[in-house]
Amino acid sequence: MTQPDFNPTQFHAALTRQWQRFGLRDAQAMTPAQWWQALSGALADMLAAQPVQTATTPLRHVNYLSMEFLIGRLTGNNLLNLGWYDAVNEALSAWHISLSDVLENETDPALGNGGLGRLAACFLDSMANVGQPATGYGLNYQYGLFRQHFEAGAQIEEPDDWQRDRYPWFNHNAALNVRVGLGGKVVTHAGQTHWQPAFELVGEAWDLPVVGYQNGLSQPLRLWQAKHAQPFNLGRFNDGDFLRAEQQGIDAEKLTKVLYPNDHHQNGKKLRLMQQYFQCACALADILRRHHQAGRSIESLADHEVIQLNDTHPTLAIPELMRLLLDEHQLSWDRAWQITQRTFAYTNHTLMPEALECWDVRLVRSLLPRHMMIINTLNAQLKTTVMARWPDDEAKWAKLALVHNNQLRMANLCVTSGFAVNGVAALHSKLVVQDLFPEYHQLWPEKFHNVTNGITPRRWINQCNPALSALITRTLQQPWLNDLTALQGLEAFADDAAFRAEYRAIKQQNKAALVEWVKQRTGIAIDPAALFDVQIKRLHEYKRQHLSLLHIIALWQTLVTDPQANRAPRVVLFGAKAAPGYALAKNIIYAINKVAEVINQDPRTGDRLKVVFIPDYNVSVAERLIPAADLSEQISTAGKEASGTGNMKLALNGALTIGTLDGANVEIAEQVGSENIFIFGHTVEQVVALKESGYDPTLWRSKDPQLDQVLQALEDGTFSQGDRGAFDAMLHSLGPEGGDPYLVLADFQPYLAAQAQAEALWSDPDAWTRAAILNTARCGMFSSDRAIRDYQQRIWQAKR
Ligand SMILES: *Cc1c(COP(=O)(O)O)cnc(C)c1O
Repeated sequence: MTQPDFNPTQFHAALTRQWQRFGLRDAQAMTPAQWWQALSGALADMLAAQPVQTATTPLRHVNYLSMEFLIGRLTGNNLLNLGWYDAVNEALSAWHISLSDVLENETDPALGNGGLGRLAACFLDSMANVGQPATGYGLNYQYGLFRQHFEAGAQIEEPDDWQRDRYPWFNHNAALNVRVGLGGKVVTHAGQTHWQPAFELVGEAWDLPVVGYQNGLSQPLRLWQAKHAQPFNLGRFNDGDFLRAEQQGIDAEKLTKVLYPNDHHQNGKKLRLMQQYFQCACALADILRRHHQAGRSIESLADHEVIQLNDTHPTLAIPELMRLLLDEHQLSWDRAWQITQRTFAYTNHTLMPEALECWDVRLVRSLLPRHMMIINTLNAQLKTTVMARWPDDEAKWAKLALVHNNQLRMANLCVTSGFAVNGVAALHSKLVVQDLFPEYHQLWPEKFHNVTNGITPRRWINQCNPALSALITRTLQQPWLNDLTALQGLEAFADDAAFRAEYRAIKQQNKAALVEWVKQRTGIAIDPAALFDVQIKRLHEYKRQHLSLLHIIALWQTLVTDPQANRAPRVVLFGAKAAPGYALAKNIIYAINKVAEVINQDPRTGDRLKVVFIPDYNVSVAERLIPAADLSEQISTAGKEASGTGNMKLALNGALTIGTLDGANVEIAEQVGSENIFIFGHTVEQVVALKESGYDPTLWRSKDPQLDQVLQALEDGTFSQGDRGAFDAMLHSLGPEGGDPYLVLADFQPYLAAQAQAEALWSDPDAWTRAAILNTARCGMFSSDRAIRDYQQRIWQAKR
């Protein structure tokens, strides 16, 4: 299939309809925001008018269920993928309008928290690109992840009303509405069991197009929005009780109002469970409707459809499918269970106990009585299997049960019910088997896989770094965005002085652009010649932004006491949101901001050290920072970061990684070579051994005078106008009270040594640029196209 050419006449007509919608007489009258609305609306109309290309393929259709899709801005991305960017740029110049200015008016659809949601977005892009038939299923949150700003250094959250002025890429099709029940009871009538819900909601389908890269394909991301089943209660309305009559509808619409802002932490609220079920019920109804419309029997469901669960958030899809097969399609239990087991596959994203979802059985039963019955039967069935394998071993059963101590364990339900379980990087998948699910692995070794995460090169190099992308195209003289391993062809140019100069000049331009933007956004002036040291990701204790902070303070103290010290000028840039209820994470943000305030105003250090915390980190901010980064901070405690994808984006754009042997850093190190990455810190095995030997942070502090001096500066009010308690939350975690659970103090000196190595290489620009080029050249395997092909071969399309 090929992408239809851009049709200027059709574009002009579609655009005209848009400004007429605004009640304007001509294009000139549009504001910049209206230009973005009009352009996107026109393009959406043109896409919708294209004949639907239904690929005839034997591939199973992938239904990617995720509570989060962190898609970022769509208009520029869709233009590039359509191959229409230059033509539209040209067309707009007739009105003296700059396309890039128009694109800056798009709000960032932030329907996700971080890595998990961004992965889902990259996967949709890659499935459209490689021709894997797919539908993404999620929720249309009216408010996305909160917007962040700082007041006196502290994080302030504001609601993100991202679709207040209507989002032009949405295509709402009322014919796809589904009904979803909640609450009520289970009744058995004439031998047939039925659920009688207490009330019903309507799920509306709001589709966003996922456009393949210049291949003519477009597949939906289908986001469900909750509506009340009746417009309002007519009886009450007629009684004159207008406000009460509206009440029912208002409650239903609450369901998809907000995205829960926790990352790597269970959201134990009833409304969250209702969101989860609502998403699953809508998706299942839609999948079965499509299957039925294709004229296929329910018995053949698993031959044509696979449901990939992005973490355990959509687990309720499992009992929902069982319910539909049993109660609506009257299949036998065994038949229903066979089909269910062949349909589901589960991706695990974390080993951290606080993120493993458990739900109170009474809550589940009150909302979903029929589902709880089905789960109890599954639990009894599993018990037979477990007791046969480990007779009289009650401890084994206590660990493996789906329901235990009135808690429903979602991960156990996923592993038991699906045909595949995968981790998201080689190390993580090994730990999933060894530490999380060893007994399940003994029962069903064939279920367990690794699929290392990836990122889409269309957004994460072509769109965000057009200059580097153009240099690569000119150099390789072959398509590479569809086959990222072609970047290997750049290796030969790492030793070519002219190429190095060009590569370096592009990084320098990107840094200069970032300098301007940082000045506008924060008022802070930074030196484009300095080493740009970047840590961008959610704020979490395990990600150890505070380890970087300790290094910053140590560097500052060195520069102050020894003005002659031969240290490279450095700008440390952070971007991170903390969950609003996560006090420690917020205190780390506050500490970084307060330290930055003091250091940035210190004339003794001047341009030799600056610290900038960019507010409101999101996909668009990432797209600006990544092409301008020199050093990529990937410094989580070994064994805690499942994969990471920020690490891949930065390495691809020629930032060298300073990182631990954690997540996909291990594979990045393998790919780029140990001389082109700065690895430090305790390994997974060393972390375990250190903890077993009785880790005592006080000891590490007392034997390290430099560390002690850094911590003292945080304790004595140096950075907080004398307020000695300002950073208590962070310091308590690092001290005897908290026990330093993520071994920040133990990794402090190894981290400083790695930073010194980085500085040494930085002092030799040719050697640094050579290493940066080799990072770009050797990151081809981190394309999400490769990840999708791995899923196809190992999981979705594997013969069983
Ligand atoms: C890639 C990305 C992430 C994930 O970053 P990690 O460093 O892998 O945690 C989070 N947020 C945004 C906006 C991203 O683009």
